[in-house]
Amino acid sequence: MKYLRNLKYYLCKKSTYFRRLINSVWPVIEFKYDFSNISGFKYRLILILTLLNLGIRTMIGRILGKFEIISMEFVITTKCTLKCKDCANLLQHYEKPYNLHIEKLIRYFDKLTKVFDYIHNLTILGGEPLMHPEFSTLLEYVCNSSKVGTVKVVTNGTLIPKEKTLSALNSPKVLVKVSNYGPLSNKIEELADVFTEHNINYRIMQLDRWFDYGNIEVRNRSSQELSEIFSSCRTPICQSYLNGEFHFCPRSSAGIDLGVVERRASDYVDIGNLDAKEARRQVKIFLNKTKYVQACDYCNNASCLPLIEIEPGTQAAHYM
Ligand code: SF4
Ligand code: SF4
Repeated sequence: MKYLRNLKYYLCKKSTYFRRLINSVWPVIEFKYDFSNISGFKYRLILILTLLNLGIRTMIGRILGKFEIISMEFVITTKCTLKCKDCANLLQHYEKPYNLHIEKLIRYFDKLTKVFDYIHNLTILGGEPLMHPEFSTLLEYVCNSSKVGTVKVVTNGTLIPKEKTLSALNSPKVLVKVSNYGPLSNKIEELADVFTEHNINYRIMQLDRWFDYGNIEVRNRSSQELSEIFSSCRTPICQSYLNGEFHFCPRSSAGIDLGVVERRASDYVDIGNLDAKEARRQVKIFLNKTKYVQACDYCNNASCLPLIEIEPGTQAAHYM
């Protein structure tokens, strides 16, 4: 086991592709398996088999000129019903949160399917995605695409979807992940009943702890420190698509959107405004990026830094 772990660390350090692959296995397998009920040998076996399957598939795809992404996030709103003080995606800092217009969302999605030949898992999130008035239209559109394998929707247990939304969520491609923030997720029991009644694939996520990404003050780190942070990022799989821009992570997309993090052209690909062929070329280069993004100077989410556990879902009195 020790040798396997050492091999994993070695390969992750040497190859951006391997690092992303090994970390992105999780969002794909959690669609099929509820890991709160699986442990030990079976857990490792599923992990290794899925890794081999995806690794071989994407490698063969690459040789055949196909371009696939295992997992990424599609932000449809910066509105949320909660205002978590430590929201890693920086939603608590939006003074004027907004919904992206449905026409734009569909255009951005269409562009995405021209850039990638296949998206194994697309996570639709916000903020709180169920707050978007056209959520069901978008979800149906995404699920109808043969370019998307599975769709995850992340919600916080504070809203009961309308009939139209429930019917869109009732798709074999969809898994709804309900974050349980205790008393704050005040609709969670009702939601579970409604989802069961409508035959919707859902899972309630018990949140015992969060890891602190820190505030959004600039740390003024050296280039060497930033490179180390980027290469040891704990979540190198959360490519975030916001306003047609493909970012390395939500900290980068929201930080730039908020105007806190300096906007640098090398930190994202403007898929929404590029022609598909050029966007595809740029995303291929971007995904092998080894230089840090500017947002790493506003973030503590790296295994080279101390891991600080915090209480999930502590609310801020107002936007921060
Ligand atoms: S529920 Fe909290 S952590 Fe989730 S998006 Fe809203 S503010 Fe952020
Ligand atoms: S800002 Fe850097 S360290 Fe933080 S999540 Fe993004 S890539 Fe990782």
